[in-house]
Amino acid sequence: MHHILEPGTFLAEWLAQQRQPAWRAKAIRRWLFARRAASFADMTDLPKELRPQLEAELQIWTTSIAKHTTAEDGTEKLLLELHDGQRIECVLLREGERRTVCISSQVGCAMGCVFCASGIDGVVRNLTTGEILEQLLRLAQLLPATERISHIVVMGMGEPLANLDRLLPALATAQDPEGFGISQRRITVSTVGLPKGIDRLTDENPGYHLAVSLHAADDTLRTQLVPVNQSTGLAEVMESADRYWETSGRRLTFEYVLLGGVNDSQEHAASLVRLLGGRAALVNVIPYNAVAGLPWREPSQGSRERFLEVLREAGVNVQVRRRKGARIDAACGQLRRLAAQT
Ligand code: SAH
Repeated sequence: MHHILEPGTFLAEWLAQQRQPAWRAKAIRRWLFARRAASFADMTDLPKELRPQLEAELQIWTTSIAKHTTAEDGTEKLLLELHDGQRIECVLLREGERRTVCISSQVGCAMGCVFCASGIDGVVRNLTTGEILEQLLRLAQLLPATERISHIVVMGMGEPLANLDRLLPALATAQDPEGFGISQRRITVSTVGLPKGIDRLTDENPGYHLAVSLHAADDTLRTQLVPVNQSTGLAEVMESADRYWETSGRRLTFEYVLLGGVNDSQEHAASLVRLLGGRAALVNVIPYNAVAGLPWREPSQGSRERFLEVLREAGVNVQVRRRKGARIDAACGQLRRLAAQT
């Protein structure tokens, strides 16, 4: 069976073997991405005899929906089971006109950030291009026909820059007018801060919005929270982020998860201001979403406000990420763990 979402030309080749016109490949893609067909049988303007043949010889889906949860605020979360039984999560967020999807790039994660649920058991494997696209298609199917995905954030499970070979073709399809037609500037790639990966992105395609997860502004604390920092160090992360910014012209975002009593004091905020040193960056402050079994806690409201105050007074652009879907554990590998336990 060929999976038609994996890169390659076999859909075109297969159609040629069947003596079908080449434009049918385009028609099938339109059915999938624009009309959100769930099967070849749904592609009603394809010749009647061709549809069962497509069903028999080519495969669209390799994943199944293991769990579908909806929160009161309209956030929906899918737990997808992959062909090998592994599970990943992806989320649809509704905010005003925006329909943002948050997708995973790996099963598990090798970065080992101490507070994150995705990395607790390490990385199992990279997702394929098709598996990344299936998340987008499955989430798009949750929307009514009058709505479409407007933004993509690669902030689910995994480290996207550790899987660029498969992620970039998937994002290219997301951008393609014959795919989802989502502009690059509405696609955010969030990274733990791998300088080599950021440099590759700079060389290949600096049009995406890049978000770098800092969580601490000095190397000692950052290495405790984000162990991969041991080998990179903050200076190198900031240098590669600056090069990305210079090449892309896109505003940089730095993410900072506030962990109560750990990195949320006014001194920590002042140290972050010094690190940013006047860069025109946006700081996305994320109150920690507690993970069962891990010792970290949410910041108190007082410490959160004081932290933000220091940043704002120094003229830093700050945004506090709202906790959408927190009650359905729409954060970071939590649903997969819950499902594994039950
Ligand atoms: N590996 C990438 C992308 C995945 S995580 C990265 O590190 O950026 C997306 C963001 O969610 C990261 O900033 C991550 O540190 C943060 N995060 C992970 N677990 C969290 C939790 N329990 N609560 C709040 N934010 C969390």
